[in-house]
Amino acid sequence: METLTKGKEYVPQAAGLKQGSKGNDVVCLQRYLSTFGYTESAIQSAFGVAAGKAAVPAPKSGVFDDHTTQALKHFQEFNHLPVTGELDEPTLALMSKPRCGFPDTRPDAADFVLQGNKWTKNALTYGFQNFSPDLTQAQIRSAIQQALAQWSSVTPLTFTEVPFASTPDMVIRFVAGDHGDGSPFDGPSGILAHGFYPPPNGGAIAGDLHFDEAETWTVNLPPSGFDLVAVALHEFGHTLGLAHSTVAGAVMAPYYAGAHRNLEADDIAGIRALYGSGTRWYGWESLGGVLASGPGVSSWANGRLDVFVRGTDNALWHKWYQGGWSGWESLGGVLTSSPDAVSWGSGRIDVFGRGTDNALWHKWFA
Ligand SMILES: [Zn+2]
Ligand SMILES: [Zn+2]
Repeated sequence: METLTKGKEYVPQAAGLKQGSKGNDVVCLQRYLSTFGYTESAIQSAFGVAAGKAAVPAPKSGVFDDHTTQALKHFQEFNHLPVTGELDEPTLALMSKPRCGFPDTRPDAADFVLQGNKWTKNALTYGFQNFSPDLTQAQIRSAIQQALAQWSSVTPLTFTEVPFASTPDMVIRFVAGDHGDGSPFDGPSGILAHGFYPPPNGGAIAGDLHFDEAETWTVNLPPSGFDLVAVALHEFGHTLGLAHSTVAGAVMAPYYAGAHRNLEADDIAGIRALYGSGTRWYGWESLGGVLASGPGVSSWANGRLDVFVRGTDNALWHKWYQGGWSGWESLGGVLTSSPDAVSWGSGRIDVFGRGTDNALWHKWFA
């Protein structure tokens, strides 16, 4: 459900405004451009965004001047609209869509925009200051865990919930209207949520996430309101240090795109530029069976593993991984040692073991 934001004080009523236009609708347009970081305003400091790079000087209120044109062009460029510098229909249509309250910063060369700071530890904590009455606490916890699992699966980051009293790194709140951080919420639709960069930006609010309680939050599919998992996934990107992406379809693009719950390549590249890929050891996990010897292992292709052991019946047993683990398969024989295995080409495996006659025995797959 994509509710439009017509009637917001910062969304113009009608298309057609251009250089020289005057009046209240120009004020609305200018409010929109300042709210989302396209002209200099208090919003940049509220979110710790460098104003010099992001915004043009504030325009004359109510007058569609050069600064308004320039800021509007930047908005159109950021969002892949025709760069007309006028409030045309496609531009107004996009401005009417629900989105994140974090200001847009104009990209340099990279697709994603790094904010330049990040958490200085990988084990992060989060906690709830309150919950939304739209959902059960268990549903909200699960939604937040789903969102965080996406970010932790591609980085070394880990996330642990702690009580609010234990001063979590990232505090989650559901709040409505002006809630004291310089970026008020705006009733249903419009701005859905916002997140703040890691410390030291913003002092105590650094790393925090706010969801607009005026929205109807849902976790069911298809969503019957705004999808909490998708919005949380996006906002955690900010609290981990990412700005908005200009890549269409990226999770870090500023406009709400339904229940988009998986990171895209652009998001992964962005977060890995900050924290690395998180290559690490996993496990132990039990793969079952009853072994009468140590294992012998071989691989004949990327993503393929073959494991061989001697079973309690002294036969050679085999198990393999290719997207998932197979069951156990007996390959017969009578072994008196652990098997050893090697591959010298795709689809080829050679297994060796000691027989009851103490000779070397060989079996191969080709
Ligand atoms: Zn955002
Ligand atoms: Zn807030």
